[in-house]
Amino acid sequence: MVGGAEESDCAPSPAPAGHPLPQAGEGKKQSPLDARLAPQLDSLRERSLYRSRRTVSGHHAVQMVVDGKPCLNFCANDYLGLATDPRVAEAAKRAISNGGVGSTGSALISGYDAEHRAFEEEYADFIGRPRALLFSTGTAANMGVLKALLGRGDVVIADELNHASLIDGARASQAEYLRVPHADLAGYESALATLEPSRFAAVVTDGVFSMDGDIADLPSLARLTRAAGAALIVDDVHGLGVLGERGRGSIELLDTEPDVLINGLGKALGCAGGIVAGSETLIEFLIQRARSWIFSTAPPPAIAAAARESLRILRTEPERRAKLLANVHRFIAGARERGLAIPERPVATPIQPVMVGDDARVMALSNELMRRGFWVAGIRPPTVPRGTARLRITLSAAHEFGQIDALLDALHDSLAVLAPA
Ligand SMILES: *Cc1c(COP(=O)(O)O)cnc(C)c1O
Repeated sequence: MVGGAEESDCAPSPAPAGHPLPQAGEGKKQSPLDARLAPQLDSLRERSLYRSRRTVSGHHAVQMVVDGKPCLNFCANDYLGLATDPRVAEAAKRAISNGGVGSTGSALISGYDAEHRAFEEEYADFIGRPRALLFSTGTAANMGVLKALLGRGDVVIADELNHASLIDGARASQAEYLRVPHADLAGYESALATLEPSRFAAVVTDGVFSMDGDIADLPSLARLTRAAGAALIVDDVHGLGVLGERGRGSIELLDTEPDVLINGLGKALGCAGGIVAGSETLIEFLIQRARSWIFSTAPPPAIAAAARESLRILRTEPERRAKLLANVHRFIAGARERGLAIPERPVATPIQPVMVGDDARVMALSNELMRRGFWVAGIRPPTVPRGTARLRITLSAAHEFGQIDALLDALHDSLAVLAPA
């Protein structure tokens, strides 16, 4: 099973002083646990699948300092440049000055703050659904929703490239899992056609696929699920703020109203968190039953305050979305001019994969780009299917054309220097 999980690491960086990489067999008294883990780490290293972190200091903006070195960021999900917007930061600061940092409890005990409530209401209004529920992360939202809505005897019909948290939530629900090849409408159709009428089924899909940047055929999925009496659950974390005339995401672009819409605050809103929108009944049910929400400390109210400001900016400054799309088209046109193989798509999104295939080569390319001053994530299995390792380039409204052109030149040259063996 392969999931389009967000990969937090990029190229492996040298271990900082004082933190040597663990070596199998090192030291005299290895615990039974370490003895079990170390060979697995060795195996990951041998297969070029070992992951490590780079450390950012200062602003998480386009121009950033990574492991002490300045570079241009082309791997963030900060599509509108709001993560470093001073107004968003100011909203968070104000909330902290007024109320402190911690929420002190779960939302059902002491943690639910007026800022949380205001964000939920403003977001629901923006997205055009009756209610919304704020989770501490998108992952928690996906896990909580799927486990609450589905159980043994039910059926999940899901795209194979769905985000890892959708896969994990569906598996944890113990519903029967029918995995559909990527974007294969016929696959959904035949899965739905074979359902016994008494069984509850949900079609679960990313709106914008996080590692490929293509979008689901939501109108067709809505039609199929409705005809089968099933529910449609869409994770549009990468569509919010990016697609649609008003930035409401793939649901707006494709004019679809899923039964459950999951969005994230950590991508275009530049904050952190997950938010679920739907009917009054859905949200009341999740409040009773979504364990990842019920048993988790509510997020800091300052995060909700910041997200409210991000949402306000998203609504009132459509020029950011226009700039983002101009940047995406600049990248696509420039890539074509330089003969770079990027997938042809009817709808352009800020997620642009450059397919590489080989796991070792993709990391070598990522390192080479970093050496040239560009931070681009190399994405490997299990985040993407075996043999489809890729550079995942993400564009932002905060990029300038000159920076995009420079990236394209570096990409072209790096691919030539590190040609396939
Ligand atoms: C990032 C992401 C999530 C998880 O959101 P977090 O808030 O980072 O936990 C869920 N779904 C998709 C498609 C994502 O890309």
